[in-house]
Amino acid sequence: RRVEVPREVHRIDPKLIDERAVRVVTTLQDAGFEAYIVGGAVRDLLLGHRPKDFDVATNATPEQVKGLFRRAFIIGRRFRIVHVVHGRGRDHEVIEVSTFRAYLDPSAAEQLVGNEKPGKSDLASKSHVVDASGRVLRDNVWGPQDEDAARRDFTVNALYYDPRRELVIDYHRGIEDSRLRLLRMIGDPETRYREDPVRMIRVVRFAAKLGFEIEAATRAPLVRMADLLGNVPASRLFDEMIKLLQTGHSLASLEELRKQGLHRGVFPILDAVLDDAHRHDGREKFIHMALSDTDRRVGEGKPVAPSFMLACMLWHEVLRRRDDRRSRGESPTVALQQATDAVFDARIGDISGRGKLAADMREIWMMQPRFERRTPSAALSLVAQPRFRAGFDFLRLRADAGELDEALARWWEAFSLADDQEREDLLEEAR
Ligand code: ATP
Ligand code: MG
Repeated sequence: RRVEVPREVHRIDPKLIDERAVRVVTTLQDAGFEAYIVGGAVRDLLLGHRPKDFDVATNATPEQVKGLFRRAFIIGRRFRIVHVVHGRGRDHEVIEVSTFRAYLDPSAAEQLVGNEKPGKSDLASKSHVVDASGRVLRDNVWGPQDEDAARRDFTVNALYYDPRRELVIDYHRGIEDSRLRLLRMIGDPETRYREDPVRMIRVVRFAAKLGFEIEAATRAPLVRMADLLGNVPASRLFDEMIKLLQTGHSLASLEELRKQGLHRGVFPILDAVLDDAHRHDGREKFIHMALSDTDRRVGEGKPVAPSFMLACMLWHEVLRRRDDRRSRGESPTVALQQATDAVFDARIGDISGRGKLAADMREIWMMQPRFERRTPSAALSLVAQPRFRAGFDFLRLRADAGELDEALARWWEAFSLADDQEREDLLEEAR
């Protein structure tokens, strides 16, 4: 079952591989361990793409890995791995090193009874735990490489590359599926979705990103099993949704979610976007423009802030709630403030990093009415805001979508770039 695929067949171009990832692998090998580049990086290499990040798999334990590198940190509880860090500051790079995991039959794992949340003491002594629906809560039992391959999700994600010998190790015909451009679940799809319902989102994300088809048996259970996503902690779903939106193929991903019947009741944010009752308030155009803009930026290698994307996706709900409140007599500023808080709570809720995300989104939203006041003091203080650029980009999008006068966006663009004299002229013009 273990197939060693030579260079003539896999045709991976070594020049596409980050030398720091190679160094992590060879350091482990020189210390007597097995080590490979694994997962998405190998899949991308087979397709001739330069991977954006590299994962390494090894038979060394996290402690052994940590001992071999100057800057290495063991992270994670549900899934312990080591981050090996190279470089500092902005262009630092993290290589994730994970220890081969054993494949465990979920029914043999220690079950947590009922739906109660696992307490610390329940989990502390156990390394593999599932909940009553079969969902894996902890997965830290080490094992041989073939079992590590079997517990990965799709055949194209279960390939191992040894950069020294230029060999791909393939247990599940992943190379063949990569040629066929097929996403095929390893093992019984239904069982594997039950173990981790997030795989339903992952298959959609990969289909959109890679332009692959979802193999029939892998696709069939999706509609039927979508409800299981309700058992997944909100913070993990939220992370998945951000990944989905940052693939550079966010529009295609939403289309694929719709195609697989997963677009409703999974992500509260998407529910807000796809809510039929309010289809005609211009939101569809606005979000379409925001997402295609995001996709373009990702394609150009530019960063996209989750706060900006989310602010776009939830904007029309903010407006609707603001207008409700205004019609009940609240002042414009208070109405907007209350609406932003309510939308954040309803659609995002309690996730990690909530404070900063909420602050950034609120800032973008609360800045919008301020663009309409162009007195000298108001305009100068707005343009001096550290987050002016995000607020302005948002205004630009609103203008592009026809939500407000194009001339206003042009004025602010000019004002932000102008020198003092030109600013005086512009302010004069705006009176
Ligand atoms: P991307 O290019 O989006 O990073 P990736 O395949 O590298 O794609 P990661 O989330 O970085 O995706 O995961 C790395 C690898 O770990 C996957 O290729 C897969 O082998 C394995 N993996 C990740 N998440 C799961 C999961 N939920 N179930 C099974 N295997 C998983
Ligand atoms: Mg990855």
